Amino acid sequence: NCKNADDVLRAVKDYNVSFIQFWFIDVLGVLKSFQITPRELENAFEEGMGFDGSSITGFTKIQESDMVAFPDPATFQLVAWRPSDRPVARLFCDVKNPDGTPFAADSRYVLKRMLKKAADLGYTYYVGPELEFFLFANSTEPKILDHGGYFDAPPRDLANDVRRDINFALESMGVAVEYSHHEVAPSQHEIDLRYQEGLIMADYAQTYRVVVKEVARKHGCYATFMPKPLFGENGSGMHCHQSLFRGAKNAFYDASDPYHLSGEAKGFIAGLLRHAPEFTLITNQWVNSYKRLVPGYEAPVYIAWARRNRSALVRVPMYKPGKESATRIELRSPDPACNLYLSFAAMLGAGLKGIEEGYTLSDPIEENIFKMTDEEMEEKGVTSLPGSLREAVDNLEKSELMREVLGDHLHAALVENKKAEWDAYRTQVTEWEIERYLPIL
Ligand code: GLN
Ligand code: MG
Ligand code: MG
Ligand code: MG
Repeated sequence: NCKNADDVLRAVKDYNVSFIQFWFIDVLGVLKSFQITPRELENAFEEGMGFDGSSITGFTKIQESDMVAFPDPATFQLVAWRPSDRPVARLFCDVKNPDGTPFAADSRYVLKRMLKKAADLGYTYYVGPELEFFLFANSTEPKILDHGGYFDAPPRDLANDVRRDINFALESMGVAVEYSHHEVAPSQHEIDLRYQEGLIMADYAQTYRVVVKEVARKHGCYATFMPKPLFGENGSGMHCHQSLFRGAKNAFYDASDPYHLSGEAKGFIAGLLRHAPEFTLITNQWVNSYKRLVPGYEAPVYIAWARRNRSALVRVPMYKPGKESATRIELRSPDPACNLYLSFAAMLGAGLKGIEEGYTLSDPIEENIFKMTDEEMEEKGVTSLPGSLREAVDNLEKSELMREVLGDHLHAALVENKKAEWDAYRTQVTEWEIERYLPIL
């Protein structure tokens, strides 16, 4: 556990580290990495390592392309999928401009800025994400490896060994695992991380995505976080359990409320519900994300909250006596192919807005929303999440709150990138259209 540059330099010597990977994130949450030798490390802590920002998605224009990566010593870890005799280490980086100011399109900076805002209001933000994924035979077709279902044990669950190795690798990199199981769809899995402070968790979840892919590769298969790889089966979500603490006290807990939820928790939920249409582009950023957000597959479609009801967007897990600290809310729309940093920042931004502005929370909806008629929905004020990337990008573009959360640069970069993705998609002629229309039209 390193706190500063000296700790890291000592650890690099002690473990006889051969290379150090510098990790940072592009605008879409894709991990970028370059390696340096231990010889360069001391200088890198002082002056950072320069790179060409114009080649990173969403970063800069060519005429202003010099960026500098500064390693964060607290994130030092030995990489679990490399040989241990001369180990490789990694450090997450903050991206800065040549003049040393934070770079506006660095996702990690955007999250830090939002966490600072929470801190100024007296809060620490905690997240516990549940990332689901599929294991396929290769990356060119969604060929399943087993026919297991929810909580199936071996031999129906053929990936038990893969999951176990993922757990070991995560724990060795300091990431605590809580649950690990086969998911509902064939060849689908879930490994849940123990909740953590927002920035630490964003780094953990980013690490998780790499670990899952690397361990799968060692086992000769391919892991994907694609939101909906199989037609007719559940997609992969990333439910996010969230809470705010004031010091050691969970600010979401109130003993006197029937749901054991404080006014702050209710404001937070109201903020998530009100601004969900605006931040969905961030938590669900691909054309394919919207193939998951449809009725019938345990993914949310409608904007409502509930305690038992898993068709709602926000669920409040049942309070267990004596477990005040576990009081939390679960947002069920995000998918695991999102930019984790921007998604956490957006959820926190929406929740804090609800608290600050004192939004009133609508009544919970405990019946199955998928079975409600349009009239019932209208009467209860239930609206829908964006139905496509197109709708989502329009909502993000118009959102003042999300412009504030992301900053002008990132807001504009995302809108431009995602409009281009939609245009590329909408001009495709799909197999579905050929099969459906060619014989009859
Ligand atoms: N896979 C579902 C989704 O898309 C969630 C299923 C579950 O965890 N109960 O969100
Ligand atoms: Mg789960
Ligand atoms: Mg699940
Ligand atoms: Mg869940």
